[in-house]
Amino acid sequence: MVMCYGAQVWGGEEHDEVEKLQRYFLKKLYKLPNNTPNYMLFLETSSQPLYNYTLRLHVNYLNKVLNQSPDRLTNFLAKIIIENKLSWYKALLVQAGKYNLEISVSLLMDRHLRWLKDFIGKLCEQQATILQEKVINSEFHKQYKCLDLAGGSRYINDSSNFHLIQTIFRVRGELLELNYQPWKRDRIFMCSLCNMNVNEDTYHFVSVCPVLKEFRLRSFGKKRLEWQEYIDILNGNNDVNSLNNLYKYVRDAYSYRKMLCSEFNYNN
Ligand SMILES: [Zn+2]
Repeated sequence: MVMCYGAQVWGGEEHDEVEKLQRYFLKKLYKLPNNTPNYMLFLETSSQPLYNYTLRLHVNYLNKVLNQSPDRLTNFLAKIIIENKLSWYKALLVQAGKYNLEISVSLLMDRHLRWLKDFIGKLCEQQATILQEKVINSEFHKQYKCLDLAGGSRYINDSSNFHLIQTIFRVRGELLELNYQPWKRDRIFMCSLCNMNVNEDTYHFVSVCPVLKEFRLRSFGKKRLEWQEYIDILNGNNDVNSLNNLYKYVRDAYSYRKMLCSEFNYNN
């Protein structure tokens, strides 16, 4: 990966410029809107920050250098950097301090790098906690808090249809282009298809809107889905076909909605 070029040298430092690239790639890959929350990208795809990868490269490289013969210039310089707590060693100390981990030349020289395993383990735990906090504190994506996030990425695998993956991600994340987009101002959130006078959010579109009941009958065998039924479908709990039925429903109902909205919608 070109972005990680030379990470053996700089990989112990976290850089948002590096992380941005991965986030951009995931959004492009799954055709997600720009406002897709970062925490959702990581949780749905089970991805980790690139830092976890560059850190491994960096520490493995240091391990090699520190195990070189003492007459090698790289080994000599590395030891001076460590003795004086400079540059990359200083950055490693800062990171280790965050997780209450000890770091020393002998640990860095240990061929098995047990220290690194501990470090990455604690790093992943902390990253998982931060992601959970972001889910809980999200102002605009309340549905996501009700989902089974541990099993969330089950639909993202090599055997899934790619359009299905993109669609299910958007439904789980409330990322479909519907009227209810509370992060936008000067917008009418109500459903323009029916006369229920309710917000056109993802639940209304998938489970409730009476104008789309024929599509629901075809995909789910019923005209309306209750909240828990809907959440179970999003979690892929009902049966192996439930996500596939949801995908077909969204594909067909959304193109029908688009046709109706081209005639009339509050936000055209
Ligand atoms: Zn409606």
